[in-house]
Amino acid sequence: MRAPLRAMQGFAAVLEEDFAQGLAPEAKQYLRRLAASAVRLDALIRDVLNYSKLARGEMVLARVEPQDLIKEIVESYPNLRPTEIHLEGSIPPVLANRAALTQVVSNLLGNAVKFVVRGVQPHVKVWGESTRGEWVRIWFEDNGIGIRREVQERIFHMFQRLNSPDDYEGTGIGLTIVRKAMERMGGKVGVESEPGMGSRFWIELKKSAEP
Ligand code: ADP
Repeated sequence: MRAPLRAMQGFAAVLEEDFAQGLAPEAKQYLRRLAASAVRLDALIRDVLNYSKLARGEMVLARVEPQDLIKEIVESYPNLRPTEIHLEGSIPPVLANRAALTQVVSNLLGNAVKFVVRGVQPHVKVWGESTRGEWVRIWFEDNGIGIRREVQERIFHMFQRLNSPDDYEGTGIGLTIVRKAMERMGGKVGVESEPGMGSRFWIELKKSAEP
């Protein structure tokens, strides 16, 4: 599905690199916009495919140590920096699907470091707590731009974005994936936030009974 797009990106790059001299400035500008659109469409297709895999694929649950998983994600995802994400205390083991929880955590952390005022260093705090006996709640608190109460439900719906793509890149599918993944694992997701005061997203999963 993504191959024709790759070809478009490739041809746009060749045109820009090898034929730039013969092109008017306006044509070069169109070429750059074409390449940027191809990158955006590629991200959209990737996210829609991820969503459909999550929505329909098999969802086997097993014991996961959230702490180890979060550390692995922070160390391996290029948009995340260990100096900006602070894991506090210990988090009890949960019953989850490792691949789905990886998507959830990477999407929430990716948003937490992305939606900050330009020039502000992201600072994200992550911690866990036992709630309602059998449940574990994991919090992701950021120092970002915050979200108005009236739109806090809307952001979990497909393609709903509150900011212009010129300010913050994205497809508007990340939180839809988060909610679907949490539903399929028998868990929940929510947010507490105010504009200018940062956001606190949380996810809740069953505590793992296995030792
Ligand atoms: P994307 O990140 O691709 O835009 P998401 O579905 O992940 O899409 O998020 C939807 C919208 O919710 C974002 O465009 C943004 O407006 C808002 N949002 C999500 N996470 C945060 C956050 N941590 N702080 C502020 N706004 C957020």
